[in-house]
Amino acid sequence: MRKRKRIALVAHDHKKEDLLEWVKFNKYLLSLHELYATGTTGKIIEKAGLEVTKLKSGPLGGDMQIGAKVANGEIDFLIFFWDPLESLPHDPDVKALLRMAVVWNIPVACNRSTADFMVSSTLMDKEYDRIIPDYENYRQRRIGGSID
Ligand code: PGA
Repeated sequence: MRKRKRIALVAHDHKKEDLLEWVKFNKYLLSLHELYATGTTGKIIEKAGLEVTKLKSGPLGGDMQIGAKVANGEIDFLIFFWDPLESLPHDPDVKALLRMAVVWNIPVACNRSTADFMVSSTLMDKEYDRIIPDYENYRQRRIGGSID
């Protein structure tokens, strides 16, 4: 992971204000990194004066686009303020994105305190050797004798 990290930000509607406050408070620090966001979250971040690559809105596939980037090694870091008090039409995508973050061992913050701890880590402005799990055994697993 390079010094300049590729950070994805996503906030559900009831959490957008929270994210906006957090982004404003950490504006300088965030400006040193490359930001990605789901559509509406991205608009809010832009209004706060930061450059951000906007993907599709979450319910329209944005979470999945970020998940694909995580799987492709194109996102280093996820700030995901999901709403614990409401179910959403794209709940399966939310779960999938969180799962990708764990599968590929990237740091993920789901609330402000965790996000605060993460961005104040001394690792933020250093290169970091993230362990990329080796899934070779999983890929080579035998499936009911149907292969070879
Ligand atoms: P949004 O998507 O930033 O487009 O609102 C976030 C989400 O609901 O996952």
